[in-house]
Amino acid sequence: MRTIGVIGGMSWESTAVYYRRLNELVRDRLGGLHSAKAIVHSVDFAGIAAMQAAGEWEEAGRAMDRLGADLARAGSEVLVLATNTMHKVAGGIEAASGLPLVNIVDVTAAALKARGCRRPLLLATRFTMEDGFYRDRLAAHGIAAVVPDAAGRAEVHRIIYEELCRGVISPASKAAYLAVIDAARADGIDSVILGCTEIGLLLSQADMPEPAIDTTEEHVAAAVEIALADAPVSSLLPPSPDARAAA
Ligand code: GLU
Repeated sequence: MRTIGVIGGMSWESTAVYYRRLNELVRDRLGGLHSAKAIVHSVDFAGIAAMQAAGEWEEAGRAMDRLGADLARAGSEVLVLATNTMHKVAGGIEAASGLPLVNIVDVTAAALKARGCRRPLLLATRFTMEDGFYRDRLAAHGIAAVVPDAAGRAEVHRIIYEELCRGVISPASKAAYLAVIDAARADGIDSVILGCTEIGLLLSQADMPEPAIDTTEEHVAAAVEIALADAPVSSLLPPSPDARAAA
């Protein structure tokens, strides 16, 4: 079994879900007392969130590079960055660590395609919904993601930072998310991306008829596949889009 290096998500609420689900999936696959070989690098999210809010993305990217390099030194064989948002600055992690990164956007694209979906609603932080790095990469996979209107994006973002990342799960916020999904149906969506690794704390497939792509679940499953397979990691990573199309 390969050792998975996990860069936390970046609140510990989602890091904890990753750790639990990695272990549960390995147990389910191998049985008995089997559990995941994992090294979890959990961060103080306050500092990272401050950098995000201040637009200090280069510094945040250097922080990601350092975390990846730490995990490589500690013996990880493949990396998982347990947050959609920080994939905005994940471009240097592989070079800094010398390890392959399981890209969450590519995992999400593969999950959508497997369900025949091409027009998902993307629910995420405002950075993920608005900055292009995520939707452009999905577009390069042939997937046209829709985002909520400005008021919807603000509310989805607020609930992530003020509630979900602090472990607050509220019925009113769940209703707010469901109203955003309902409004997007007029745009012809065929699926919903839970595109923030804490959203699975609030919503699940049971809440909607469209396929719900929980990026945490898909990402963990992809990492476990890689950890348990014998083939080279490069042959097991989700397909990445053509580099020129993604640029
Ligand atoms: N977990 C989040 C995501 O998937 C948001 C928190 C963060 O910025 O890492 O985007």
